[in-house]
Amino acid sequence: MNQDNTQGANLMATPHAESLLILNVRPYGEGEPTSVLIEDGVIAKIAPSIEFDGPSIDGEGGVLLPGLVDMHVHLREPGREDTETIATGSAAAANGGFTAVFTMANTQPVMDQPVIAEAVWHKGQDIGLCDVYPVGSITKGLEGKELTEFGMMARSEAKVRMFSDDGKCVDNPLIMRRAIEYAKGLDVLLAQHCEDPRLTEGAVAHEGEIAARLGLRGWPRVAEESIVARDALLCRDYGNRMHICHASTEGTVELLRWAKEQGIPMSAEVTPHHLLLTDERLETYDGVNRVNPPLREHKDTLALREALLDGTIDCVATDHAPHGSEEKCCEFEHARPGMLGLETSLAIIAQIFVESGLADWRFVAKVMSERPAELLKLQDQGRPIAEGEPGNLTIITPEQPWTVSGKALASKASNTPYEGMNFGAKVKATILRGRLSSVDGKASAPRN
Ligand SMILES: [Zn+2]
Repeated sequence: MNQDNTQGANLMATPHAESLLILNVRPYGEGEPTSVLIEDGVIAKIAPSIEFDGPSIDGEGGVLLPGLVDMHVHLREPGREDTETIATGSAAAANGGFTAVFTMANTQPVMDQPVIAEAVWHKGQDIGLCDVYPVGSITKGLEGKELTEFGMMARSEAKVRMFSDDGKCVDNPLIMRRAIEYAKGLDVLLAQHCEDPRLTEGAVAHEGEIAARLGLRGWPRVAEESIVARDALLCRDYGNRMHICHASTEGTVELLRWAKEQGIPMSAEVTPHHLLLTDERLETYDGVNRVNPPLREHKDTLALREALLDGTIDCVATDHAPHGSEEKCCEFEHARPGMLGLETSLAIIAQIFVESGLADWRFVAKVMSERPAELLKLQDQGRPIAEGEPGNLTIITPEQPWTVSGKALASKASNTPYEGMNFGAKVKATILRGRLSSVDGKASAPRN
């Protein structure tokens, strides 16, 4: 294992594929508890009772879902290994139930060349806790001026399949048009961070009554919505799919609904924090609540929830963004925007949608695994729990009250806005190609 694949890394390769018997789990939270046998990384048998002379785990009647897929994280490597590394980020991902994550291009140096993307991909595979897919930047150095070589990155060993300048908006419409036309021939996904920078200069919080009262410079909804609208029209006229990162407003939902009705191939994600938290959090002036786009109002969270339920928004993505404590524990205006997300997202989505009775575990499987895997065209993720399918799975204990503690997280950073909050569902174990990558919140790397 762990050898260099000089013929180009095969994303379908199965490093560390192992065998495991999972006892006492309910696929999608339905029916009677059953057993699932994984052999050499593939689901070999699903039956109430299976004989197997090898490693096993007792799911204790918990819910079995396909391994979660997060199409938007920041693992900070290369460049800011003081805040997160591919190793610590992979551990956080495994603890959070994820078997694949896409790490954004705003590293130092920027992931705008094949060699950087390949280094990230190989490192993720060597660590072996989670498949870490590098996202290439749309423009060189995230400068918004010159397109990167999508083709070279797509054909590299990293097989880059998503491009984004996330953290920054590709605000120049001509550059975005060219990116759409270039991406078309390669069938890669462009992901846009929608923020017209001219409308958000110096902005630190949602433009509304609370920010005005607290004297914080406002980030208006229109800064996001105007780019969503423009890009929907660019997609319509220059014809390729595009993905909207972290939708945060009611107006964005309306625009997405319109775009989908027109048949424009636009998809979107929403973060757990935009579904759960609002700008009322600003009252504390705590920098941990600063995020981009900012926490909005109650009516926005309601619109986002409805949009996720009816498919207007395709999936959940965490936008996991670790920062050092000195970057978050400071005056609100000086705090870096971003929040941790990998180790709390499943619990939040379960609370909002399953525990409330709005949706079931099939829905969680759809928005946290199947749909993102489909958007990124992953062959081995987000698949049905069935014989012959890949052994990438997550076991969830639906009723296990727990309290979030930033210090207890595997992430190198601790900037969680959920500190001290109680949740009802917990990831019990994560299984990557038949190997337990995390059990009871403890990630464990493969023996090399
Ligand atoms: Zn972003």
